[in-house]
Amino acid sequence: MVCKTVLGEAQQVKIAIDLIEMGARLQLLQEETSLSRERLLRLYKEIKKESPSKGMLPYSTDWFMSWQPNIHSSLFMDIHQFLVKHAGVEGVQALISAYRLYLDQIQGIEGGEVVLSITRAWYMLRFFQAGMLQLVPCKECGGLFVTHAGDLHANYACAICHAPARAGKTHAAKRATIAAAQAA
Ligand SMILES: [Zn+2]
Repeated sequence: MVCKTVLGEAQQVKIAIDLIEMGARLQLLQEETSLSRERLLRLYKEIKKESPSKGMLPYSTDWFMSWQPNIHSSLFMDIHQFLVKHAGVEGVQALISAYRLYLDQIQGIEGGEVVLSITRAWYMLRFFQAGMLQLVPCKECGGLFVTHAGDLHANYACAICHAPARAGKTHAAKRATIAAAQAA
């Protein structure tokens, strides 16, 4: 079964390269591929021309609740759910495909800024699996948005419908984000 092993190995390398190119942190690579840490480090340095960051990984659910991150996170979850339901992808492949589509959406907007990193997206999926986050419909626009699980959300209004005053100066960005969310 050498052939199968080589193919499996090639797939793992492909996954690792995709993730590294999307900016994934080393911990994500270690958990989502079967490649050794040494191998991953070599791949990382070859692709990024630098060593992976040793900083702390995000671990709090609060980041996903602030205004702009919430819109981006909700857009990503929308895409991810659609792919899992309709495209038959799962696990790390669903993460990669959904993140690629998220990047397409944001980079297709003039002045669009990528707010959600792939590492945060990966963490968010874990928070959903752990039942710490959920998707709740906005009572005004009907879109699904990321919220803390367990809170009462009967009258939930989303970050797009109820933007804080400080977001006012980025009106154009807001309209663009709405357009992107609807297009997804
Ligand atoms: Zn809304």
